[in-house]
Amino acid sequence: MRYQMTAKFWWRQQANQLLNWIFPGEDALCVVCGRPSELGKSGNNIADGQHGASDLGMCPFCQQEAASCTVNAAVQNVRLDHRRGFVAVHSCVSYEQFLRTLIRAWKYDGLIQLTEWFGQIMLSALPQALIARCDLIVPVPATRDRIQKRGYDHIRLLAACLSDAYGLPLIDGLCRVQTDQGFTQSQTAKSALARRRGLKNAYVLNAPLQTAMLRRKRLLLIDDIVTTGSTIATCAQALYQAGAATVEGGVIARVM
Ligand SMILES: [Zn+2]
Repeated sequence: MRYQMTAKFWWRQQANQLLNWIFPGEDALCVVCGRPSELGKSGNNIADGQHGASDLGMCPFCQQEAASCTVNAAVQNVRLDHRRGFVAVHSCVSYEQFLRTLIRAWKYDGLIQLTEWFGQIMLSALPQALIARCDLIVPVPATRDRIQKRGYDHIRLLAACLSDAYGLPLIDGLCRVQTDQGFTQSQTAKSALARRRGLKNAYVLNAPLQTAMLRRKRLLLIDDIVTTGSTIATCAQALYQAGAATVEGGVIARVM
């Protein structure tokens, strides 16, 4: 699959490939932990991860860790501030140590090839009935600055991967605005109340064309992690304002 990325990120990737070609290393290094990944080819037969982790450039140790990430689907209801009640958030795995490492590498370190691995987890965990009752996929967006800085939007890549697999159209129905202080702060380390307050008005509807396409549609809102559910709730409220019929969330991991 072709990933959407900034030109700068693309050039950086090309330059890295060229450098690897000019100066081939003795051992390829694991994309996650940096240990030599050649160990896996010497007959030290650690089975492929259930989601094909060996193709991603992981060492045998990381492959084994990846294979042990068991899919364990769950649903949590996140309260909405207005009277529509709750939004159901479907998660696939719990946010444990190795998964945390992988998500960080995927989000911050340029390992966009992990998108399909996470996509596979979601494909195997999200209920068929959920997919059958959705019309469109909507990604939780990142700010423009953050996309420029990282070179890509990992959630948008994941949503595109699911959109291909399920044959459901993807609509960029939302955009994330920046606060007066510049970056909207990362949500990861805040309390539930502070999160909701911080997110108020952080997600707004996108251009009128996209917004019109959401009307009376059943939406699957995609994000990476659910903690308190504030992000999903804030996005769902905006989507309901655009006239969505229903909104449900689909995320990779839940923080217990
Ligand atoms: Zn490794």
